[in-house]
Amino acid sequence: MIIVMRQGSSSKEVGDVIKRVQDLGYQVHLSKGVERTIIGIIGDERPLTVQPLERLSGVEAVVPILKPFKLASRDFHPENSVITIKGTEIGTDEIIVMAGPCSVESWEQLQETAHVVKRAGAKVLRGGAFKPRTSPYSFQGLGEEGLQMLRAAGDETGLLIVTEVMAPKQVDLVCHYADILQIGARNMQNYNLLRAAGDSGHPVLLKRGFSSTVEELLMAAEYILSKGDYQVMLCERGIRTFDTKYTRNTLDINAVPVLKQLSHLPVIVDPSHATGKWDLVTAAARAGVAAGADGLLIEVHPEPDKALSDGQQSLRPENFVELMAQIRRVAEAVDRTVTEPEVERVAVSAL
Ligand code: PEP
Ligand code: MN
Repeated sequence: MIIVMRQGSSSKEVGDVIKRVQDLGYQVHLSKGVERTIIGIIGDERPLTVQPLERLSGVEAVVPILKPFKLASRDFHPENSVITIKGTEIGTDEIIVMAGPCSVESWEQLQETAHVVKRAGAKVLRGGAFKPRTSPYSFQGLGEEGLQMLRAAGDETGLLIVTEVMAPKQVDLVCHYADILQIGARNMQNYNLLRAAGDSGHPVLLKRGFSSTVEELLMAAEYILSKGDYQVMLCERGIRTFDTKYTRNTLDINAVPVLKQLSHLPVIVDPSHATGKWDLVTAAARAGVAAGADGLLIEVHPEPDKALSDGQQSLRPENFVELMAQIRRVAEAVDRTVTEPEVERVAVSAL
C-alpha cells in the first residue's frame, strides 16, 4: 500500500503520517519526488484499514499496490531510482558502461583491459573471479586472487568494480573487494543468495535468468529490496529461444521498456551474453540504448582468441572504442549521454 501526500503537504504532515504508520507496526519507505511525496507501507497489509489513514492531514490517497512486486514497482516509487556509488550515479540521463573481461585471468590481462575501457569512457570494470561454468572442467575463476586484482585495477584507474558472487557464504568476501555484487543468470532465483546480498546493503546487479519472465526478475529483485537494500539494478542479458545456431541467446529488447514502465530501478543491457558473438554486440548495444537502457555490460578482452571464457563474444579494444562512439550517437538521439573518451578530454583541455 502507498500513501500519496497532497502536493505542497508540509513536512510535519508527512512526519505525522509516518509516525502513525510506524505506530501501527509497519516500516515505511519515503519517496520524495519533484511533484509528490509518497509513503510506502512495508509489511503484511492485510490487517490495515484504509479509511483512518485517508483522513490524516495532508493525505491525498491511500492506494493498494496490486502487483506482486511492491518495492520494485514504479507505483511505489514513481521517480527513477538513482544509485550513487563513490560519486558515480546510475539511473540518470548518463548511460553508464560497465566493461571488462568475462573472467579475470591474470594481472596483465586485467590491467590492460581496465585502462582501455577507462580511456574509452567506461565507468565500471567487470570481471568474474567466481565463474558459473556449464562444465565443471572449464576454468572456474581465480577466486579471491581475482578479486584482489579487480580491486587493484579499480584503484589504479578509478573504475568501480562489478563481479559475480555465487554463494551466500561468498557475499562478505566479494563485498570487501567489489563496489557492485553481480548475481548471475543461473542464480537469479537462488533465494538464499538474494537474501544474503540484500542483507549486505551493497549495490547489486541482478541478471535475468535465461528462462525467467520479466515478473520473475522483478520478484527476485523484491527479495533484495525487502531486506532494505534499495541499490538494485536489473540486467537483461538475453533469454533462451529456439535459435542457438547463429546467436547464443535472444536479447529481449521488449524487456527494457517494460521494466522501465513497471519499475523505478535502473535497467542495464548485456549485449555480450545476449548475442554470444562479438560482431553482433555493437548492434545489440545500440538497440539497448535506443530502447532506454540506463547502462550496458560489455565483455572486452585484449586477445579474445586466448580468453579462458566467452572469447567468441568479447570485443577487442579497438572494437570497444568503436562501440562507445556508436552508442554515443544513439544516446544523443534519445536525449541521453555517454561519458566522453579520455583522449578527447585531454585534447580539448590541451587547447
Ligand atoms: C557473466 O557476466 O560473465 C555471466 C556469467 O553472465 P550470465 O550470468 O548472464 O550468464
Ligand atoms: Mn561471460
